[in-house]
Amino acid sequence: MPFLFAQSNDKNIKNENRDSLHIITSFRINFEAYPEQEKIFDLYKKYLYSDPVKNDKNNPYWNTKEKEKYDAFDLSVASIYGSSDFLNDLDDLKNYLDIYILSIDKITDDLYSISAQYQFKGGLSNSSSIWCIQNINAVKINGEWKLQNNLVHYTKNWDVYKTKYVVYHYPYGYNFKSDDAEKANRFFQNLVKKYNLGKPKKLDYYIAESTNQMGELLGFGFFGGGVTSGVSSVGNDYIMSSKTAFHAHEFVHFAFASNEVKRNYLIEEGCADFLGSRVYDKESYNKNMDKLINDIKNDDTYTIENLISMNGNVSWNNYNWRYPFGALICKMVYDKRGEKGLKKLMFSNTEETDELKTALIDVMHFKNEQQLYNELKNIAENYN
Ligand SMILES: [Zn+2]
Repeated sequence: MPFLFAQSNDKNIKNENRDSLHIITSFRINFEAYPEQEKIFDLYKKYLYSDPVKNDKNNPYWNTKEKEKYDAFDLSVASIYGSSDFLNDLDDLKNYLDIYILSIDKITDDLYSISAQYQFKGGLSNSSSIWCIQNINAVKINGEWKLQNNLVHYTKNWDVYKTKYVVYHYPYGYNFKSDDAEKANRFFQNLVKKYNLGKPKKLDYYIAESTNQMGELLGFGFFGGGVTSGVSSVGNDYIMSSKTAFHAHEFVHFAFASNEVKRNYLIEEGCADFLGSRVYDKESYNKNMDKLINDIKNDDTYTIENLISMNGNVSWNNYNWRYPFGALICKMVYDKRGEKGLKKLMFSNTEETDELKTALIDVMHFKNEQQLYNELKNIAENYN
């Protein structure tokens, strides 16, 4: 007999600020028959209430090993919470979502898998009603249940290929091309040498064969919110990609990783595109650049002033214009000031728009902002 947990009897939830989560368990779960399920359910519930997006190192519900290994130890939270305007923290979770626990299954005595659906209130009503299905594990450590990323168990039997800086992980039977891996290593080492960067950190590189598998790596049975073909986490020392062993864009992020510099998003992504995608993923690089050039010429909201400040008024034309625009800035610097200029830009604090403008005016030897805008507009208009 299925039973409901914490079922709401409030008919008027829309205009109310909820103070508790709405969690329901499916018929697959039965605490009386399987008492261990209840312990794991409690653990997961407490974890949800601890506001997972904080990735707080003192979180008592997560295993210590992963908290020590990773900067942001819960690999799925960035997709669940960070990828939209409407779901950013525990309050949003309370206000807008229903959590439906599909299953809490035993794998071994010390390992269970939890599968939980995140559904927007209002039932199945539009294309984003189901936000995701999270797959997360519970492991028993010294008699206590702790949460663990799906990645650990999921990739347990994957093949491994080690290179100097990168340890590759890929599914059994995957046609791994060691040439790509060697190419990636050479690219990585060249960047480090050319730009005089610090010794690269060792990193794990997971190759997924599909978007669904990419989701499994991050902890999703259904990869909805934050769905992507690849992620790189500098703080967590990993790249995950559903492309090949050589995702140049992501390697640029790693090569330039530095804790002391707060880089503007435009420069971080722009440089990864300019040094990585422009050379090794030409097709998509050119496609995005062509769109941007076209929009700068024809869309009134695509002024250089708006773009450089990442102004919210810039129209959404179905691509992330920040990447090609950032790449355009890097091109300007590189063409006029070479590697030295680009390096200087990459190691300046540019997080705030004003800092970015100041750094660009300095590195380009411009007199003022207007000159910077004119030059970027000129480059865009004459781009070929
Ligand atoms: Zn990137």
